[in-house]
Amino acid sequence: MTSMRTTPRPRASSASSAARRLVPVAAGLVLLTATVLAGTRAAPRVGTAVPAGPAQAQERNDREVPDDPRLREDHVDPFDDGHPAITGLRPALRAALQDAARDADAQGVDMWVTSGRRSLAYQQELLDEAVRRYGSLDEALRFVASPDTSRHVTGDAVDIGPTEADDWMIRHGADHGLCQTYANELWHFELATEPGGTCPAPRADAAG
Ligand SMILES: [Zn+2]
Repeated sequence: MTSMRTTPRPRASSASSAARRLVPVAAGLVLLTATVLAGTRAAPRVGTAVPAGPAQAQERNDREVPDDPRLREDHVDPFDDGHPAITGLRPALRAALQDAARDADAQGVDMWVTSGRRSLAYQQELLDEAVRRYGSLDEALRFVASPDTSRHVTGDAVDIGPTEADDWMIRHGADHGLCQTYANELWHFELATEPGGTCPAPRADAAG
């Protein structure tokens, strides 16, 4: 995607001189129940199609969130109800996300939020960055929505990580109404069907 930078990194010397301070927090044992689910991979639901109508009938969320540096954090606990990226989600989406994260955890899949609610300012930053990266606004809009159309700005979308959790969510998210809505964004989920329903086919990209 992005071209490799050819310019050398400007400063690489000071980092080593600075003594790295390791806070001696006893890192709690991470009990990863590595449940191997080799034989239990459920096929994606390809049943009777549910019209995408009901999920679209959502009222606009006019309540903007104030800009907050924490909205830019890319590893947020889905259950962190004190975090603006989580509390700013539409309540039904937040509940579905947490239910899904609980299910995933029960199957040994760790899940976190790489981007939840966004402020207008943050969305504009992301778009500006994409314009620089892709060279034009038209191209950038295939990957990053504008502040006035972003589903993150209204609290209707959540980005999930890591890849294993994306994969899990693509296969099981519909149990909670959560669907991948853009084909080129494996990590982006919205409420787009009824719980247990069938997800509509994802659109090609955010511009489509
Ligand atoms: Zn997204």
